[in-house]
Amino acid sequence: MTSVPTIDLNNGSKIPQLGFGVFQIPPEDTKAATLEALEVGYRHIDTAQMYQNEAGVGEALAASDLARDDIFVTSKLNNGFHAHDDALIAIDGTLESLGTDHVDLFLIHWPMPGIDIDFVETWKALEEAYRDGRARAIGVSNFQSNHLHRLIDETDIVPAVNQIEVHPYLAQDELREVCRELGIAVEAWSPIAQGAVLDDPALGGVASEVDRSPAQVALRWHIQRGDIVFPKSVTRSRIEENFALFDFELDDGQMAVISALDKGMRTGPNPDEFNMIP
Ligand code: NDP
Repeated sequence: MTSVPTIDLNNGSKIPQLGFGVFQIPPEDTKAATLEALEVGYRHIDTAQMYQNEAGVGEALAASDLARDDIFVTSKLNNGFHAHDDALIAIDGTLESLGTDHVDLFLIHWPMPGIDIDFVETWKALEEAYRDGRARAIGVSNFQSNHLHRLIDETDIVPAVNQIEVHPYLAQDELREVCRELGIAVEAWSPIAQGAVLDDPALGGVASEVDRSPAQVALRWHIQRGDIVFPKSVTRSRIEENFALFDFELDDGQMAVISALDKGMRTGPNPDEFNMIP
């Protein structure tokens, strides 16, 4: 079976560079989709309280023959739980839904700069969950450079990851460089822009050159840039296709063609403006 490389996080944890994302998979379909991904070989699942499907992931963990320690599970704090005590209660809720005593990585999902609870307070709750072992690593998602610097200046633990929107139409090179300098691994969400990049002629050109699909070359571009990805699919053939990334390479010219597609196009919300409590 394909062996997926791991990335070393700043606290000594190792995370598989390729995982399976479950955003927008209906709760009732999540167990089956996650089990399919595990069957194909994925060992890293990315869920969130907001997706309302942690329990489906938990059912798949329970039904699988794999040991809990063989699967890296990430979840994220929902936007309504930023107050210190609410965050700790919510982490326990995640563990209950997943049916496990720890998550491998727990993230603040959005910085929510417009609400009156400071994410520094939220982070201190995550630090507690890290220290008592409920989360084996902690990180953030959708944090901009100024948010990262504030956390690092005002708290003890440097986030292990920053999970941000990155794909060929949104290369995020500045923010990725800030993360690199701070020792924070980058996780690229919506790595194929929910499909929006797949009809791009330049991407298609590279795909023809290496005899792979546009999705595979977009995902391979992320892998060669050193980012962590977890494409989502409920389609078995695509779950397999997205896993077959480690028996081909893009050369420097092909990498440059894909990097040149950057047009600063977000498919999701701007973190500086997103303050929605679901
Ligand atoms: P992706 O970029 O992974 O794209 C998923 C879409 O592309 C689905 O419609 C899927 O269709 C389709 N697709 C998948 N593979 C292929 C393929 N090989 N060929 C053609 N189409 C394909 O989008 P997501 O937004 O789901 O991002 C991935 C993960 O990132 C999420 O699941 C979640 O874990 C995380 N995320 C985190 C966010 C955050 O704020 N932290 C925000 C958004 C996502 P189908 O399923 O029908 O096969």
